Amino acid sequence: MKAIPYGRQHITQKDIDGVVEVLKSDYMTQGPRIAEFETKFADYIGCKYAVAVSNGTAALHLSVLALGLRPGEKVITTPITFAASANCVLYAGGIVDFADICPKTFLIDLDKIEEKLANSPAGSYKGIIPVDFGGLPVDTERLRQIADKYDLWILEDACHAPGAYFTNTQEQRIYCGDGTYADLSIFSFHPVKHIATGEGGMITTNNKDLYEKLLLLRTHGITKSVDLLTENHGGWYYEMHELGYNYRLPDLSASLGITQLDNAEAGVQKRKQIAKKYQQAFDELGISYQICPDNTYNAYHLFIILVKNRKELYNKLRENNIFSQVHYIPVHLQPFYKNKGWNKGDLPQAEAYYEQCLSLPMYPTLTDEEQDFVIEKVKEVCV
Ligand SMILES: *Cc1c(COP(=O)(O)O)cnc(C)c1O
Repeated sequence: MKAIPYGRQHITQKDIDGVVEVLKSDYMTQGPRIAEFETKFADYIGCKYAVAVSNGTAALHLSVLALGLRPGEKVITTPITFAASANCVLYAGGIVDFADICPKTFLIDLDKIEEKLANSPAGSYKGIIPVDFGGLPVDTERLRQIADKYDLWILEDACHAPGAYFTNTQEQRIYCGDGTYADLSIFSFHPVKHIATGEGGMITTNNKDLYEKLLLLRTHGITKSVDLLTENHGGWYYEMHELGYNYRLPDLSASLGITQLDNAEAGVQKRKQIAKKYQQAFDELGISYQICPDNTYNAYHLFIILVKNRKELYNKLRENNIFSQVHYIPVHLQPFYKNKGWNKGDLPQAEAYYEQCLSLPMYPTLTDEEQDFVIEKVKEVCV
Protein backbone atom coordinates (compact mmCIF):
# COMPACT_ATOMS: atom_id res chain seq x y z
CA MET A 1 0.00 0.00 0.00
CA LYS A 2 1.25 3.49 -0.82
CA ALA A 3 2.16 5.94 1.92
CA ILE A 4 -0.78 7.53 3.76
CA PRO A 5 0.10 11.00 5.10
CA TYR A 6 -1.95 12.88 7.72
CA GLY A 7 -2.95 15.47 5.13
CA ARG A 8 -2.36 16.19 1.48
CA GLN A 9 -3.42 18.40 -1.41
CA HIS A 10 -5.83 17.38 -4.15
CA ILE A 11 -4.77 18.84 -7.52
CA THR A 12 -7.17 18.51 -10.45
CA GLN A 13 -6.68 18.94 -14.21
CA LYS A 14 -8.55 22.23 -13.88
CA ASP A 15 -5.93 23.45 -11.39
CA ILE A 16 -3.16 22.50 -13.80
CA ASP A 17 -4.86 24.09 -16.82
CA GLY A 18 -5.38 27.32 -14.88
CA VAL A 19 -1.71 27.60 -13.96
CA VAL A 20 -0.61 26.87 -17.54
CA GLU A 21 -2.92 29.63 -18.73
CA VAL A 22 -1.26 32.09 -16.32
CA LEU A 23 2.17 31.02 -17.56
CA LYS A 24 1.11 31.87 -21.10
CA SER A 25 -0.34 35.24 -20.04
CA ASP A 26 1.38 38.58 -19.40
CA TYR A 27 1.31 38.33 -15.62
CA MET A 28 3.13 35.94 -13.32
CA THR A 29 2.46 38.29 -10.40
CA GLN A 30 0.48 41.51 -9.72
CA GLY A 31 -1.99 40.51 -12.42
CA PRO A 32 -5.77 39.98 -12.55
CA ARG A 33 -5.84 36.59 -10.78
CA ILE A 34 -5.18 38.19 -7.39
CA ALA A 35 -8.36 40.27 -7.22
CA GLU A 36 -10.33 37.38 -8.73
CA PHE A 37 -9.11 35.02 -6.00
CA GLU A 38 -9.77 37.60 -3.28
CA THR A 39 -13.35 38.21 -4.45
CA LYS A 40 -14.08 34.51 -4.78
CA PHE A 41 -12.57 33.74 -1.38
CA ALA A 42 -14.53 36.57 0.31
CA ASP A 43 -17.70 35.12 -1.28
CA TYR A 44 -16.94 31.64 0.00
CA ILE A 45 -16.19 32.83 3.53
CA GLY A 46 -18.94 35.46 3.62
CA CYS A 47 -16.85 38.53 4.47
CA LYS A 48 -16.57 41.94 2.81
CA TYR A 49 -12.84 42.16 2.12
CA ALA A 50 -10.02 39.70 1.48
CA VAL A 51 -6.31 40.39 0.98
CA ALA A 52 -4.16 37.65 -0.58
CA VAL A 53 -0.62 37.37 0.78
CA SER A 54 2.42 35.14 0.36
CA ASN A 55 1.64 32.74 3.24
CA GLY A 56 -0.29 32.39 6.49
CA THR A 57 2.60 33.68 8.57
CA ALA A 58 2.81 36.87 6.48
CA ALA A 59 -0.96 37.20 6.98
CA LEU A 60 -0.44 37.09 10.75
CA HIS A 61 2.45 39.57 10.60
CA LEU A 62 0.56 42.13 8.50
CA SER A 63 -2.52 41.68 10.69
CA VAL A 64 -0.81 42.58 13.96
CA LEU A 65 0.78 45.59 12.22
CA ALA A 66 -2.55 46.74 10.78
CA LEU A 67 -4.14 46.35 14.22
CA GLY A 68 -1.50 48.72 15.53
CA LEU A 69 0.42 46.42 17.88
CA ARG A 70 3.40 48.27 19.33
CA PRO A 71 6.56 47.10 21.11
CA GLY A 72 5.93 45.97 24.67
CA GLU A 73 2.18 45.40 24.20
CA LYS A 74 0.68 42.08 25.29
CA VAL A 75 -1.43 39.62 23.32
CA ILE A 76 -3.06 36.36 24.44
CA THR A 77 -3.02 33.20 22.32
CA THR A 78 -3.23 29.42 22.71
CA PRO A 79 -0.21 27.16 23.29
CA ILE A 80 -1.77 24.45 21.07
CA THR A 81 -1.16 25.96 17.67
CA PHE A 82 1.53 26.33 15.07
CA ALA A 83 4.32 28.60 16.36
CA ALA A 84 3.46 31.35 13.86
CA SER A 85 0.24 32.27 15.74
CA ALA A 86 2.43 33.41 18.64
CA ASN A 87 5.54 34.50 16.73
CA CYS A 88 3.69 37.25 14.84
CA VAL A 89 3.28 39.16 18.11
CA LEU A 90 7.05 39.11 18.57
CA TYR A 91 7.64 40.31 14.98
CA ALA A 92 5.97 43.56 16.05
CA GLY A 93 7.93 43.69 19.32
CA GLY A 94 4.93 42.61 21.38
CA ILE A 95 4.77 40.14 24.27
CA VAL A 96 3.00 36.78 24.03
CA ASP A 97 0.91 35.43 26.86
CA PHE A 98 -0.69 31.98 26.65
CA ALA A 99 -4.05 30.91 28.06
CA ASP A 100 -4.60 27.20 28.65
CA ILE A 101 -6.91 25.03 26.54
CA CYS A 102 -10.19 23.23 27.18
CA PRO A 103 -9.43 19.48 27.51
CA LYS A 104 -12.49 18.46 25.44
CA THR A 105 -12.40 20.84 22.45
CA PHE A 106 -8.63 21.52 22.59
CA LEU A 107 -9.48 25.18 21.89
CA ILE A 108 -8.28 28.11 23.98
CA ASP A 109 -10.38 28.20 27.16
CA LEU A 110 -12.41 31.42 27.21
CA ASP A 111 -12.86 31.15 30.99
CA LYS A 112 -9.08 31.20 31.36
CA ILE A 113 -8.89 34.32 29.17
CA GLU A 114 -11.51 36.06 31.30
CA GLU A 115 -9.72 35.06 34.48
CA LYS A 116 -6.44 36.41 33.17
CA LEU A 117 -8.00 39.72 32.12
CA ALA A 118 -9.93 40.12 35.37
CA ASN A 119 -6.73 39.60 37.39
CA SER A 120 -4.60 42.09 35.44
CA PRO A 121 -4.47 45.89 35.69
CA ALA A 122 -6.70 47.66 33.12
CA GLY A 123 -5.04 48.06 29.74
CA SER A 124 -2.56 45.21 30.24
CA TYR A 125 -3.51 43.52 26.99
CA LYS A 126 -4.15 44.73 23.43
CA GLY A 127 -5.51 41.70 21.64
CA ILE A 128 -6.36 38.02 21.46
CA ILE A 129 -5.36 35.52 18.77
CA PRO A 130 -7.77 32.55 19.01
CA VAL A 131 -7.16 29.55 16.75
CA ASP A 132 -9.96 27.46 15.19
CA PHE A 133 -7.86 24.46 16.03
CA GLY A 134 -8.30 21.31 13.96
CA GLY A 135 -11.13 23.05 12.07
CA LEU A 136 -13.34 23.64 15.12
CA PRO A 137 -14.60 27.24 15.41
CA VAL A 138 -13.86 29.24 18.53
CA ASP A 139 -16.98 30.85 20.05
CA THR A 140 -16.12 34.31 18.77
CA GLU A 141 -19.52 35.64 19.87
CA ARG A 142 -18.61 35.17 23.52
CA LEU A 143 -14.99 36.12 22.86
CA ARG A 144 -16.18 39.44 21.34
CA GLN A 145 -18.07 40.25 24.53
CA ILE A 146 -14.94 39.59 26.55
CA ALA A 147 -12.78 41.58 24.13
CA ASP A 148 -15.17 44.55 24.16
CA LYS A 149 -15.20 44.62 27.94
CA TYR A 150 -11.41 44.98 27.98
CA ASP A 151 -11.05 46.93 24.72
CA LEU A 152 -9.10 44.25 22.85
CA TRP A 153 -8.90 43.34 19.19
CA ILE A 154 -9.48 39.80 17.92
CA LEU A 155 -7.26 38.27 15.25
CA GLU A 156 -8.74 34.87 14.40
CA ASP A 157 -6.25 32.29 13.12
CA ALA A 158 -8.63 30.33 10.88
CA CYS A 159 -5.94 28.41 8.98
CA HIS A 160 -7.63 25.12 9.88
CA ALA A 161 -11.18 26.21 9.35
CA PRO A 162 -12.29 27.58 5.95
CA GLY A 163 -15.92 26.41 5.68
CA ALA A 164 -16.42 25.84 9.42
CA TYR A 165 -19.16 27.69 11.33
CA PHE A 166 -21.10 27.87 14.56
CA THR A 167 -24.63 29.08 15.23
CA ASN A 168 -24.74 32.08 17.54
CA THR A 169 -27.35 32.94 20.18
CA GLN A 170 -29.52 34.54 17.45
CA GLU A 171 -29.43 31.28 15.48
CA GLN A 172 -27.28 32.83 12.76
CA ARG A 173 -24.51 30.88 11.12
CA ILE A 174 -21.17 32.49 11.84
CA TYR A 175 -18.53 31.25 9.42
CA CYS A 176 -14.88 31.30 10.47
CA GLY A 177 -13.37 34.44 8.99
CA ASP A 178 -16.69 36.08 8.05
CA GLY A 179 -15.83 39.25 9.96
CA THR A 180 -18.88 39.21 12.27
CA TYR A 181 -16.94 39.14 15.54
CA ALA A 182 -13.21 39.04 14.73
CA ASP A 183 -11.51 42.22 13.53
CA LEU A 184 -9.28 40.22 11.19
CA SER A 185 -9.04 36.53 10.31
CA ILE A 186 -6.25 34.74 8.52
CA PHE A 187 -5.93 31.61 6.39
CA SER A 188 -3.05 29.55 4.96
CA PHE A 189 -2.91 27.75 1.62
CA HIS A 190 -0.03 25.43 2.48
CA PRO A 191 -0.66 22.05 0.78
CA VAL A 192 -1.77 20.32 4.00
CA LYS A 193 -4.55 22.89 4.48
CA HIS A 194 -7.99 22.82 2.80
CA ILE A 195 -7.06 25.01 -0.16
CA ALA A 196 -3.59 24.49 -1.64
CA THR A 197 -1.62 27.10 -3.57
CA GLY A 198 1.90 25.88 -2.67
CA GLU A 199 2.55 28.80 -0.37
CA GLY A 200 -0.17 31.36 0.18
CA GLY A 201 -2.36 33.12 2.69
CA MET A 202 -5.40 35.38 3.05
CA ILE A 203 -6.61 37.99 5.50
CA THR A 204 -10.36 38.60 5.73
CA THR A 205 -12.26 41.45 7.39
CA ASN A 206 -15.38 43.61 7.27
CA ASN A 207 -13.41 46.70 8.34
CA LYS A 208 -12.58 49.02 5.44
CA ASP A 209 -9.83 50.94 7.26
CA LEU A 210 -8.01 47.75 8.19
CA TYR A 211 -8.47 46.48 4.65
CA GLU A 212 -6.85 49.57 3.15
CA LYS A 213 -4.00 49.44 5.64
CA LEU A 214 -3.34 45.81 4.73
CA LEU A 215 -3.22 46.60 1.01
CA LEU A 216 -0.58 49.23 1.69
CA LEU A 217 1.50 47.04 4.02
CA ARG A 218 1.44 44.14 1.55
CA THR A 219 3.50 46.10 -0.99
CA HIS A 220 6.18 48.05 0.85
CA GLY A 221 3.74 50.65 2.19
CA ILE A 222 3.77 52.13 -1.30
CA THR A 223 0.72 53.62 -3.00
CA LYS A 224 -0.03 54.97 -6.48
CA SER A 225 -3.63 55.75 -5.54
CA VAL A 226 -4.16 59.37 -6.68
CA ASP A 227 -6.38 60.35 -3.75
CA LEU A 228 -3.73 59.25 -1.24
CA LEU A 229 -0.72 61.02 -2.80
CA THR A 230 0.57 64.18 -1.10
CA GLU A 231 2.09 65.40 -4.38
CA ASN A 232 1.92 64.19 -7.98
CA HIS A 233 4.84 64.45 -10.38
CA GLY A 234 3.30 62.42 -13.24
CA GLY A 235 2.32 58.96 -14.34
CA TRP A 236 5.37 57.29 -12.76
CA TYR A 237 4.82 58.83 -9.36
CA TYR A 238 4.28 56.80 -6.20
CA GLU A 239 4.74 57.39 -2.51
CA MET A 240 5.77 55.26 0.42
CA HIS A 241 3.59 56.00 3.44
CA GLU A 242 4.33 53.12 5.80
CA LEU A 243 7.13 50.64 6.38
CA GLY A 244 5.62 47.71 4.52
CA TYR A 245 6.84 44.44 3.06
CA ASN A 246 6.69 42.43 -0.12
CA TYR A 247 4.14 39.85 0.99
CA ARG A 248 2.37 39.51 -2.36
CA LEU A 249 0.92 36.27 -3.70
CA PRO A 250 1.94 35.50 -7.32
CA ASP A 251 -0.77 35.05 -9.98
CA LEU A 252 0.37 31.47 -10.46
CA SER A 253 -0.67 30.69 -6.89
CA ALA A 254 -3.81 32.84 -7.04
CA SER A 255 -4.92 30.83 -10.07
CA LEU A 256 -4.59 27.63 -8.04
CA GLY A 257 -6.59 29.26 -5.27
CA ILE A 258 -9.41 30.15 -7.69
CA THR A 259 -9.80 26.62 -9.06
CA GLN A 260 -9.19 24.98 -5.67
CA LEU A 261 -12.13 26.96 -4.26
CA ASP A 262 -14.45 25.11 -6.65
CA ASN A 263 -13.80 21.94 -4.63
CA ALA A 264 -13.66 23.54 -1.19
CA GLU A 265 -17.23 22.77 -0.11
CA ALA A 266 -17.07 19.19 -1.41
CA GLY A 267 -13.75 18.78 0.39
CA VAL A 268 -15.29 19.80 3.72
CA GLN A 269 -18.19 17.37 3.12
CA LYS A 270 -15.77 14.55 2.42
CA ARG A 271 -13.74 15.37 5.55
CA LYS A 272 -16.96 15.25 7.53
CA GLN A 273 -17.74 11.75 6.21
CA ILE A 274 -14.26 10.58 7.09
CA ALA A 275 -14.63 12.06 10.59
CA LYS A 276 -17.96 10.28 11.07
CA LYS A 277 -16.43 6.93 10.20
CA TYR A 278 -13.52 7.49 12.61
CA GLN A 279 -15.95 8.56 15.34
CA GLN A 280 -18.11 5.46 14.93
CA ALA A 281 -15.07 3.18 15.00
CA PHE A 282 -13.50 4.91 18.00
CA ASP A 283 -16.75 5.09 19.98
CA GLU A 284 -16.85 1.29 19.74
CA LEU A 285 -13.21 1.03 20.76
CA GLY A 286 -13.48 3.56 23.59
CA ILE A 287 -10.88 5.91 22.11
CA SER A 288 -11.52 9.62 22.68
CA TYR A 289 -11.26 12.38 20.08
CA GLN A 290 -11.81 16.13 19.74
CA ILE A 291 -15.33 16.99 20.91
CA CYS A 292 -17.41 19.17 18.61
CA PRO A 293 -20.07 21.18 20.55
CA ASP A 294 -23.65 20.89 19.20
CA ASN A 295 -23.82 24.35 17.67
CA THR A 296 -20.54 23.98 15.77
CA TYR A 297 -19.69 22.63 12.34
CA ASN A 298 -16.09 21.40 12.22
CA ALA A 299 -14.22 21.74 8.91
CA TYR A 300 -11.93 18.88 10.02
CA HIS A 301 -8.51 20.03 8.98
CA LEU A 302 -7.35 17.40 11.48
CA PHE A 303 -8.82 14.34 13.13
CA ILE A 304 -7.22 14.13 16.56
CA ILE A 305 -7.44 11.20 18.96
CA LEU A 306 -6.10 10.94 22.51
CA VAL A 307 -4.30 7.71 23.41
CA LYS A 308 -2.13 6.75 26.36
CA ASN A 309 0.39 4.82 24.26
CA ARG A 310 0.74 7.54 21.64
CA LYS A 311 4.39 6.89 20.79
CA GLU A 312 3.79 3.17 20.31
CA LEU A 313 0.84 3.93 18.05
CA TYR A 314 2.78 6.55 16.09
CA ASN A 315 5.63 4.08 15.47
CA LYS A 316 3.28 1.23 14.59
CA LEU A 317 1.45 3.39 12.05
CA ARG A 318 4.74 4.49 10.61
CA GLU A 319 5.90 0.88 10.16
CA ASN A 320 2.75 0.46 8.11
CA ASN A 321 3.47 3.51 5.95
CA ILE A 322 0.85 5.63 7.73
CA PHE A 323 2.29 9.02 8.63
CA SER A 324 0.28 10.39 11.53
CA GLN A 325 1.40 13.64 13.15
CA VAL A 326 1.36 15.46 16.48
CA HIS A 327 -0.43 18.85 16.51
CA TYR A 328 1.18 20.48 18.37
CA ILE A 329 4.12 20.48 20.71
CA PRO A 330 2.92 23.24 23.10
CA VAL A 331 4.45 26.49 21.85
CA HIS A 332 5.37 27.67 25.37
CA LEU A 333 7.61 24.58 25.77
CA GLN A 334 9.70 25.36 22.69
CA PRO A 335 13.24 26.27 23.80
CA PHE A 336 12.79 29.76 22.34
CA TYR A 337 9.76 30.44 24.55
CA LYS A 338 11.29 28.68 27.55
CA ASN A 339 14.11 31.21 27.26
CA LYS A 340 11.46 33.87 27.72
CA GLY A 341 10.48 32.36 31.06
CA TRP A 342 7.85 29.74 30.20
CA ASN A 343 8.12 26.36 31.91
CA LYS A 344 6.63 22.92 32.10
CA GLY A 345 3.69 23.06 34.47
CA ASP A 346 2.56 26.55 33.38
CA LEU A 347 -0.29 25.27 31.19
CA PRO A 348 -1.32 21.86 32.54
CA GLN A 349 -4.21 21.14 30.15
CA ALA A 350 -2.14 21.86 27.05
CA GLU A 351 0.71 19.75 28.39
CA ALA A 352 -1.58 16.82 29.27
CA TYR A 353 -3.14 17.06 25.81
CA TYR A 354 0.29 16.94 24.19
CA GLU A 355 1.14 13.65 25.97
CA GLN A 356 -1.73 11.84 24.23
CA CYS A 357 -2.69 13.60 21.00
CA LEU A 358 -2.27 12.15 17.54
CA SER A 359 -3.63 13.40 14.20
CA LEU A 360 -4.79 10.60 11.93
CA PRO A 361 -4.93 10.80 8.12
CA MET A 362 -7.63 13.31 7.09
CA TYR A 363 -7.93 14.60 3.52
CA PRO A 364 -10.62 14.38 0.83
CA THR A 365 -8.84 11.80 -1.33
CA LEU A 366 -8.31 9.35 1.54
CA THR A 367 -10.06 6.18 0.32
CA ASP A 368 -12.41 3.97 2.33
CA GLU A 369 -9.89 1.18 2.06
CA GLU A 370 -7.06 3.36 3.35
CA GLN A 371 -9.18 4.59 6.24
CA ASP A 372 -10.16 1.02 7.17
CA PHE A 373 -6.48 0.13 7.20
CA VAL A 374 -5.69 3.06 9.53
CA ILE A 375 -8.52 2.10 11.90
CA GLU A 376 -7.39 -1.52 11.90
CA LYS A 377 -3.85 -0.53 12.88
CA VAL A 378 -5.09 1.80 15.64
CA LYS A 379 -7.17 -1.07 16.96
CA GLU A 380 -4.16 -3.40 17.00
CA VAL A 381 -2.23 -1.07 19.28
CA CYS A 382 -4.91 0.56 21.40
CA VAL A 383 -7.39 -2.18 22.24
C1 LIG B 1 -0.32 26.62 8.69
C2 LIG B 1 -0.59 27.50 9.85
C3 LIG B 1 -0.05 28.78 9.96
C4 LIG B 1 1.02 29.32 9.04
O1 LIG B 1 0.69 29.28 7.71
P1 LIG B 1 1.87 29.26 6.61
O2 LIG B 1 1.12 29.46 5.33
O3 LIG B 1 2.52 27.92 6.70
O4 LIG B 1 2.80 30.37 6.92
C5 LIG B 1 -0.43 29.57 11.04
N1 LIG B 1 -1.31 29.12 11.95
C6 LIG B 1 -1.84 27.88 11.88
C7 LIG B 1 -2.81 27.45 12.93
C8 LIG B 1 -1.50 27.03 10.84
O5 LIG B 1 -2.01 25.80 10.80
